[in-house]
Amino acid sequence: MMKVVEYAKEINKSVDDILKACADLEMDYITDQNSILNGDDIADLENYFMESDSKKKNIKKKKKEAKPTSDISLDEDIVVYRDNITVREFADNLKQPPNEVIKKLFTLGIMANVNNNLDYETAEVIASEYGKEIKKESALDIANFEEYEVRDDEKDLKPRPPVVTIMGHVDHGKTTLLDTIRKANIAEQEVGGITQAISAYQVNYKKGQITFIDTPGHAAFTQMRSRGAQVTDIVIIIVAADDGIMPQTKEAIDHAKAADVPIMVAINKIDKPDANPERVMTELSEYGLMPDVWGGDVLYTNISALKGEGIDELLENILLIAEMNNYRANPNRQASGTVIEASLDKSVGPVATLLIQSGTLKLGDPIVVGTCFGRIRNLKNDQNQAIEEATPSQPVVIMGLNETPVAGDRFVAFASEKEAKKVWEARKIKCRDDACQPTTSVSLDEVFSKIKEGATEVKVLVKADVQGSAEAIKACLEKIVIENIKVKVIRSSVGAVSENDIMLAKASGAIIISFNLPVNNDMYKCAKEQNVDIRVHNIIYKVVEELEAAMKGMLTPEYEEKKLGMVEVRQLFKFSKVGVIAGSYVTEGVVKSNAHCRLWRNDELVYEGKIKSIQREKDSVKEVKKGFECGITLDNFDDVKEQDIIEVYEMVEIKR
Ligand code: GDP
Repeated sequence: MMKVVEYAKEINKSVDDILKACADLEMDYITDQNSILNGDDIADLENYFMESDSKKKNIKKKKKEAKPTSDISLDEDIVVYRDNITVREFADNLKQPPNEVIKKLFTLGIMANVNNNLDYETAEVIASEYGKEIKKESALDIANFEEYEVRDDEKDLKPRPPVVTIMGHVDHGKTTLLDTIRKANIAEQEVGGITQAISAYQVNYKKGQITFIDTPGHAAFTQMRSRGAQVTDIVIIIVAADDGIMPQTKEAIDHAKAADVPIMVAINKIDKPDANPERVMTELSEYGLMPDVWGGDVLYTNISALKGEGIDELLENILLIAEMNNYRANPNRQASGTVIEASLDKSVGPVATLLIQSGTLKLGDPIVVGTCFGRIRNLKNDQNQAIEEATPSQPVVIMGLNETPVAGDRFVAFASEKEAKKVWEARKIKCRDDACQPTTSVSLDEVFSKIKEGATEVKVLVKADVQGSAEAIKACLEKIVIENIKVKVIRSSVGAVSENDIMLAKASGAIIISFNLPVNNDMYKCAKEQNVDIRVHNIIYKVVEELEAAMKGMLTPEYEEKKLGMVEVRQLFKFSKVGVIAGSYVTEGVVKSNAHCRLWRNDELVYEGKIKSIQREKDSVKEVKKGFECGITLDNFDDVKEQDIIEVYEMVEIKR
């Protein structure tokens, strides 16, 4: 004999799986995880699972054995069909002259011109004539830009400049470094052309080019990631040599690690008399950034952003990492990329800084940016000069959009305005349908299903009242291994949950644990809006227990009280068989039989239990609403008095 929950644990299945199996086997008496399974039940369940497992194996085997219906599998052998496609569009997709397609249609007995629509079946026949399969494109595919962000062929990829973001504690010299690099590496004649600083710029250094993104802070960096935009190839953590590692330095490291990009370190202000680069190196290595000179894999450069010292070495190191990582893109296609910054200018309308990540953006291109549409009316480079086109990793400023997009929005340029508009329409519909919610967030409830879908780790962000607890929780959580799945703590620090934590958790799909700290209401609200789960605890083993349970799909549901109504006892009826019936009047809401209740007498709690039965006239009823009288009996309690108040409530399961 054992409980469902114990059996589930034993055979490594979820409670839900067991309950479903019990239902299939018509074991009506098994209702929840605490129901008891006897020896026969367990034998039946064993057979049940054995059969279903072998079925699954057979299906898998059959799938493996099944011959592909055709050997057409390469992307180039697939042609896209969409509803109402015209002969010309389909011919374009087939990469055939429209006349040829018209001839083929003629041989099928169909008289058509280039503007006629093709139905699916006919398109399928035509495609097969050219040895191709057709793929129906749904509105959703195009709304996701999927069709336009296809993988490029290896042979089409060309090297592109690395995209670098500099992050660090305030006053450690980020702005000075960006200014110094910019001034030192833009040709003399071009410097005069700089009239306004834009949020991204490119420098030429020796043989290479480097793009710097100047995001206003870590939050912006993470917000972009939370919108699914990964714009940075390399993160430089800047630390002042006279100050060392500070809270925002740690934050910056967390953000960079969560983004999973190479990290470099620039130790700044080495010109200062109290500069101590060695100390910074020691501190940072304790934080997981082991310097290459000490046998680690992080490149450190000592610099003085103010005096321009060490800048060449820093740029050389960036190019070295770029060379090692071989950043490439296909310049010969329609452009796509990400919005770095956007604003609404009173006189010229929406202005957006875009980072081209693939393809070449040309003046006049129709473009869809987030849910905005436009034609590139004005294309400028980072020095405010008008240009005709821009290539991968290049930041540009564009005008011509009908609305202002948001930093982190993706964009795609199109060959025809018609196509762009179609995608724009589809995106607007999709956005309306799902409010453009990025799907990165994960709640504790979803951990198990994410694991089943193939997630290989569970990410957690820990905030605690003291450093000791933060570290202890991190250590305990990182010891958890359940079926090869581990917990990754992406941040463990002291202090209440902040908006920044929520953004990082959201961008990384992490759960926040707030230990021994209250979470303020605004943060709860923010977390709810961002779909981030915050779990509050004050006992370490409970944190571990809860996470383990979530990873095994065995979370016990949480309940909260939902008030149903209030009842006033007005008269008592005593019966030898049923005991005392409280003749009552429902003053608020509703009273339900079997609901939870509390009996109050002069503000004192006298009884807590359940409503056993309710009677109206002579009949037993399930519920009685406000304004009606009824007779109530309580479960195992007879000592009711006139004027007692009964508070009625039920327990509802809450989504974590
Ligand atoms: P940010 O907040 O990280 O952008 O820091 P800033 O670039 O605004 O620099 C903060 C202060 O440090 C300014 O007064 C800079 O002049 C100064 N600073 C920046 N880099 C250096 C440096 O290499 N040496 C010295 N001595 N001061 C620097």
